[in-house]
Amino acid sequence: MWINGSTHAGSGAEREVVNPATGAVVDTTTDATPDDVDAAVEAATTAAAEWAATDVTARAKLLRTLADALADNSDELVATLVAEQGKPLLEANGEFHHMLSGLRYYAESATKVRGVHQELPSQFGPAYGLVKRHPFGVVGAIMPWNFPLTLLANKLGPALAAGNTVVAKPAETTPLATLQVARIATEAGLPDGVFNVVTGGGETGGALVGHPDVPRIAFTGSTATGRTLMETAGPALKHVSLELGGSDPTIVLPDADLETAVKTIQIGRYWNAGQVCLAPKRAFVHADVFDQFVELLSGRIERYEPGDGTTKPDKPKLRIGPLHTAAQRDLLVDQVADAVDAGAELVTGGHVVEGDGHFYQPGLAVDVPDDSRLSTEEVFGPVLPVWSVDSLDEAIERANATAYGLGSSIWTTDGTAINRAVNELDAGMTWVNQLHYGYDEMPFGGTKQSGLGKEHGLEALAEYSRYKSSVIGGLG
Ligand code: ADP
Repeated sequence: MWINGSTHAGSGAEREVVNPATGAVVDTTTDATPDDVDAAVEAATTAAAEWAATDVTARAKLLRTLADALADNSDELVATLVAEQGKPLLEANGEFHHMLSGLRYYAESATKVRGVHQELPSQFGPAYGLVKRHPFGVVGAIMPWNFPLTLLANKLGPALAAGNTVVAKPAETTPLATLQVARIATEAGLPDGVFNVVTGGGETGGALVGHPDVPRIAFTGSTATGRTLMETAGPALKHVSLELGGSDPTIVLPDADLETAVKTIQIGRYWNAGQVCLAPKRAFVHADVFDQFVELLSGRIERYEPGDGTTKPDKPKLRIGPLHTAAQRDLLVDQVADAVDAGAELVTGGHVVEGDGHFYQPGLAVDVPDDSRLSTEEVFGPVLPVWSVDSLDEAIERANATAYGLGSSIWTTDGTAINRAVNELDAGMTWVNQLHYGYDEMPFGGTKQSGLGKEHGLEALAEYSRYKSSVIGGLG
């Protein structure tokens, strides 16, 4: 744990952090008990008033200093990310730079937000209205293991910029990089208590969510855990943002630049070994280009060589890391087996690679029945089902036939089709001829079972603020 600017051992059980590529123990942490969570929340509560009263330019400057200090420590942080998460060095570097860009975005934008001042049509005499933003106080931020650093920064940046203090709980399998960020933040001058970290699993997360002095919860994780969390946060009427699962559709029409579509869908689906919430997870390809699409994509994904992310294969092979845990890989194996038993065909890959790590050969499946698990469930691994469709109408209907609504995309140059996708795809985002990527500048968050609220963009600054309206009268 990291509380009030220094390391503390939790009072709970010891937990080993294991490298998913090698099985080696990277380090050991101890779980934070509810008493430990109390201590962290108390530190954050004590620091909250002074932090909120700190001028926004000073807060923004500290965020910038933090980003610079993290950049100075990039080797340490990236190496930790590779070791505890399993992702290849190239992907860890990408994640690290995304974190920096997120923090810098909020360091910059926090000072540019204007309040609202408005003349009021009042029958009680001349008056004007003033809308002010106030921080909530303590934010409880809970992260999953797939992108430990960017998903932390998505919360930490806007929460701190808006004047809140934070108690963060990283996933139990990836706590180390987050603890390093907290240490570096203290070294960079962030006041004690402004950013605290508690380590542990669901019990620790539950204690944070249930804590009466934590009015704002920011969560990224599975839809199932999001629902459990709401059972605690809902009755307490906490302000909650939930970034949950997704099963993003991507639609490819015959007029698309097929080579670019294939390359981009490949990156989107197989990046981070497919363990990404916003990724093209169901492809609907027009019958006119279906065979070509499948051939091109399967050729590209056959280049993947699963292995330890600290090593690189010879070109043209591409490194893909392991699944994060044995349980994650078992789930994928079951989902693929369910589809194959029901008649799906694996055009390439889609099987376990033996060895110390949780490796899996990336796959592409066709003829996947609509009611099979590969179609109906979120697939958090490197397998893409591809369906042939005869029209845009059919593609949109099938794209929307999911419980999720995180992202979506379309590949076409037809303006009418683009307009229809933007208007009719039921999701928090639609990318047109673009990678499913979480831009820092754009509000991001899902519909349906994919969550509540927005991260990124100026909207996230608003999400970490309470709005207060004041009416000023008696002016003459
Ligand atoms: P996954 O299933 O992908 O591991 P989870 O949604 O279970 O993801 O976990 C995301 C984060 O939520 C982790 O930090 C985890 O420890 C935490 N968590 C799990 N259960 C709870 C809970 N009941 N309350 C709060 N946080 C929880």
